[in-house]
Amino acid sequence: MKSNVFVDSHVHTNYSDDSTMRLEDGIEAALALGLKGLAFTDHYDLDFPDNQFLFEFDPKKRASHIESLREHYGPDIEIVNGIELGVQSHVLDQSARIIDSHPFDFVICSLHVVDGFALHDSDGFYKNKTKEQAYRRYLEEVYQLVRSFENFDVIGHLGYVRRYGPYEIKSMPLKIYDEIIDSLLKLLIERGKGIEVNVSGYTYRLGTPLPDVDILKRYKELGGEIITLGSDAHDAAHIGKSFKQGLAALERSGFEHVNYFKNRQPIFVPLK
Ligand SMILES: [Zn+2]
Ligand SMILES: [Zn+2]
Repeated sequence: MKSNVFVDSHVHTNYSDDSTMRLEDGIEAALALGLKGLAFTDHYDLDFPDNQFLFEFDPKKRASHIESLREHYGPDIEIVNGIELGVQSHVLDQSARIIDSHPFDFVICSLHVVDGFALHDSDGFYKNKTKEQAYRRYLEEVYQLVRSFENFDVIGHLGYVRRYGPYEIKSMPLKIYDEIIDSLLKLLIERGKGIEVNVSGYTYRLGTPLPDVDILKRYKELGGEIITLGSDAHDAAHIGKSFKQGLAALERSGFEHVNYFKNRQPIFVPLK
C-alpha cells in the first residue's frame, strides 16, 4: 500500500469520552505508518441517552491544541480539525450551532441513537425487532435526519446497526433495503454530501467495511463522488488499520479516488 498519500479521516482521542489516546500519540502513530495525515473526529452527541458517557468536548480548546501541533509537526503531516457529530431529531438546531460557531475542517454526521436508544446497547433498540425491522428503522431515521439537517460533510459508518444488533447474520444487503437506501443515497448526492468507508467493520468482525461494497457501488452508480476513508480508531494501534481492505473495497466499487477534507472542502486523492 502506497500509504503516504492517504489520510485516516476518522480518529478519536481523549477529547472523546470513550478514548484515552492523546492527540500527540495519534500523530506519532500516523507518522510511523507513513500516512499523509489524520482527521481528529471526536464525538459530540448532544443528549446522549447512556449516562456513562458525556460525548461533548470543548471545540475551542481542541482547536488550539491542534493548532499548536500543526506548528510543531509542520508540513510532515496533515492534521484535520474534524468532529463526529451524533445527531437526533430533537437536537438538530443546537447541533447546527456547534458546527457553525467553530472552524471545523470536516464534519461526520453519525447516528448512534434511534428512538432514544443508544445503538451500542444490544438490549434496547433491538428488543422485539427482527433484524429487518431494526435495520429499516435505522435507515429510515438516517433518511429523515439527512432531510432536515445539512451541517455536515459525510454520513458516518452507514449501517452502524450491524455492529451491535444481536443477530446471527449481520449483513445489510442492498437488495433487501434497496428502496430506502436508494432514496438516501440520492438525497445525499443531491445535497452534495458524501459517505465514508468505515473500516471498523473489520475490527467488529463484520468482514466488510461500513457500508459494504454493494452500497458503495450503488452510491457511485448514482453519481456519488465524495468518499472518505476512516479507521474509527479509539487508540493508536487502530489508526490506519484495515486500510488495505478499505482501499480494495473502494476499487471494487468503481472509485478511482478517495477524499479527505480541509476547510469543509473535499480534496481528491487518486487511488493509484
Ligand atoms: Zn460513530
Ligand atoms: Zn467514531
